[in-house]
Amino acid sequence: MPVCELCKKKVKVTYKCKACGARFCEKCGNKDKLSCEDCEEYEEGAQGRYRLEQEIEISSD
Ligand SMILES: [Zn+2]
Ligand SMILES: [Zn+2]
Repeated sequence: MPVCELCKKKVKVTYKCKACGARFCEKCGNKDKLSCEDCEEYEEGAQGRYRLEQEIEISSD
């Protein structure tokens, strides 16, 4: 039985995070986006800021 690397529990199905490669259960991440809880939070925060910076750069050009 696979083990979720985030909650360390044995689960029926794990999904592999495309960002860090961790195997997570459906409670520990977004199985549609294939990102674990840690990476999903990071991605949302970082991407929001990154996009904003990019837009400013493009508009000033
Ligand atoms: Zn889990
Ligand atoms: Zn991850």
